Amino acid sequence: MLRVSGKCYLEGRGLVEACIEFDRVIRKVRSHCVPDLTLRSDELLMPGSVDLHVHVRGLGLSYKEDVSSATSEAAYGGVTLVGDMPNTHPYLNTAEAVLEKLREMERSRIDFVVYAGVGSETKKLDAMPIAGYKVFPEDLERPELEDVLSSSKLKILHPEVPNSLQGQRTLRALWQELASLRLVRGRFHVTHCTSKETVELAHGSGFTADLTPHHLLLHESDCWDKVNPPLRDETTRRALWDSLWVAEAVVSDHAPHLPEEKRWHYDICPPGIAAISFTTPFIYSLVFRGVLSVDRAVQLLSKGPATILGLKMGEIAEGFAANFTVVRREYWRYSTAYTKASHTPLDGYPLNARVTMTFVQGKVAFDGGEVYPVRGVNAIA
Ligand SMILES: [Zn+2]
Repeated sequence: MLRVSGKCYLEGRGLVEACIEFDRVIRKVRSHCVPDLTLRSDELLMPGSVDLHVHVRGLGLSYKEDVSSATSEAAYGGVTLVGDMPNTHPYLNTAEAVLEKLREMERSRIDFVVYAGVGSETKKLDAMPIAGYKVFPEDLERPELEDVLSSSKLKILHPEVPNSLQGQRTLRALWQELASLRLVRGRFHVTHCTSKETVELAHGSGFTADLTPHHLLLHESDCWDKVNPPLRDETTRRALWDSLWVAEAVVSDHAPHLPEEKRWHYDICPPGIAAISFTTPFIYSLVFRGVLSVDRAVQLLSKGPATILGLKMGEIAEGFAANFTVVRREYWRYSTAYTKASHTPLDGYPLNARVTMTFVQGKVAFDGGEVYPVRGVNAIA
């Protein structure tokens, strides 16, 4: 049992002095205690960040990123759980491939969940410890989708189409993004919304929605900031900021590629930005700058995504997982530390918040200097 005291974010009470007693789970929240660790006066103990949308890579793509490099980068960025998206080699839509992935994820340094893709083995996959399914617009035409739609598990809709990366993409892609939303039913979450309209449409259909920092911040200039779905025009990008007040989550869509691959000609270079460690300090920077409330930040980073996954996480309260992110107000310029992708278009971005500690399963996974080989668990198992 460990006791940490300092300024903590408690649900319904906001930032208050408290002492948290925990092992793998939070056992007691007290107002005073004799602590094992006292936070610095400028540090805040926040619920651990949950990133619903991450490409951990691994398996046949381990040269781009592997479980330990991705989850080390995550711990450095205050992320305590990742949801691994299945565009892997092999593709995760068979029981065999999912088993292999689950075994590989045992090396994760933070907690994790795994999503599968649409295939012919959904009935088998439904009995496995996975969080849900990733659905692309092109999957909507496949007969196999019927089993996925009737599954009670979460479906994550990527309202993006591969050909939206080619010319004239802005209007056409946006139209397809909106159209795909009208075709689905069940327990859906709409990920990486690039426009305010997509978030509104998702909510209008009774679905939850998230957005990424890069769609709020970046303009496309070269392959380093090529992403799928693409960065939108300036008006759409600015309007998306309104969604920060209504979306259920923010995600990184961490999608690492080797620097050599990002230097290929624009038309053939792979889309993706590897900035899993950016999201948490970025959102808390908005709090320190007076742009967002601390309640909204916790909703976007922790409580919202944990609720979407149906997990007892994302809150500092008795019975919840002992996953915490410690942040403090500090001016610095963003850089990655552990990802194999080593360069992102967000490098050098000025931030006002820094992650100084990350706790996973009650253990120190990052102490402000080093990442430790803590064992995360499959939160669905
Ligand atoms: Zn993605």
